[in-house]
Amino acid sequence: MRSVLLALIDEIRRLKASGVKTISVSEESLVTLRRLVAAQQAVAVPPSPALVAPPPEPQAGESRMEVSTLRQPANAAPRLLPPPPEVALPSGEKPVRWQALREQVLSHPVCQAHVRPGRKVVFGVGNLDARIMFVGEAPGAEEELQGEPFVGPAGQLLTKMIKAMGLERSDVYIGNIMNWRPELPLRGDGPQVGNREPTPEEMAFCLPFITAQIDVVSPALIVALGATAARGLLGPHSFRTLGDVRGRWHEYLGRPLRVTYHPSYLLRKEVEGKVAAQRAKRTAWEDFLAVMERAVLPITDKQRNYFL
Ligand code: URA
Repeated sequence: MRSVLLALIDEIRRLKASGVKTISVSEESLVTLRRLVAAQQAVAVPPSPALVAPPPEPQAGESRMEVSTLRQPANAAPRLLPPPPEVALPSGEKPVRWQALREQVLSHPVCQAHVRPGRKVVFGVGNLDARIMFVGEAPGAEEELQGEPFVGPAGQLLTKMIKAMGLERSDVYIGNIMNWRPELPLRGDGPQVGNREPTPEEMAFCLPFITAQIDVVSPALIVALGATAARGLLGPHSFRTLGDVRGRWHEYLGRPLRVTYHPSYLLRKEVEGKVAAQRAKRTAWEDFLAVMERAVLPITDKQRNYFL
């Protein structure tokens, strides 16, 4: 119960700091709060319904939120999300627009409500003039700690593959379909163990954030890393298996889109043995070669023969 109340206090402080003067609390929520206090000695945490209602009128450029803005309690299942937000960016140069977008995403109450204390909402990074944009699925443990996409084991493999293309991480742009780590119930007081796929609702909610990044950066082409990222961009029912969509070009927001394996999949393949891992890496590398050709990057014979 303590953590629920602390989260509530945090959230009220955050709303106050962001200029909210009044909040309305429903009678139902007050009853729940009283019950929580009465159950102070109880071991189990009672479920918490919506506790904090949004301010009466949405601010310019914001969409009204119909759900609780309370921080996610430790053991809760994914909650209902409001409709996807409308993103409004200032006019101006790319860095101005990107910075405004970044601030909107990092401070968005729904994103904030889904990160646990000490963890971060994760926004895209990289070169704002990148010709190639990689889009992954969602932050994992390392990413939500550092607040940067693809910095854990999968990220290290992605970085190696970018280098194998003859590029640096700072030459490309890297984002995710989702901006927070999809929650799993905690075991005891420890950190979240493992990851889960984002739900279609979660991906739909965050989609305006990645499409706005695509709009700002304006890459020549996009690479979707894994089936979830591809579903997030192409639609939840656009294909059955990754094999249905990889190996050819698609279009997203008027830009060429290539789908390839997620680096985590390539890492998992290593458990199956050297041959399986090598084959999967070669398949992914062929996608990268296709991307290099389309981006008119030089390709050496050595690069052509990687993982053969
Ligand atoms: N996997 C992803 O899809 N994105 C990350 O940022 C990290 C791991």
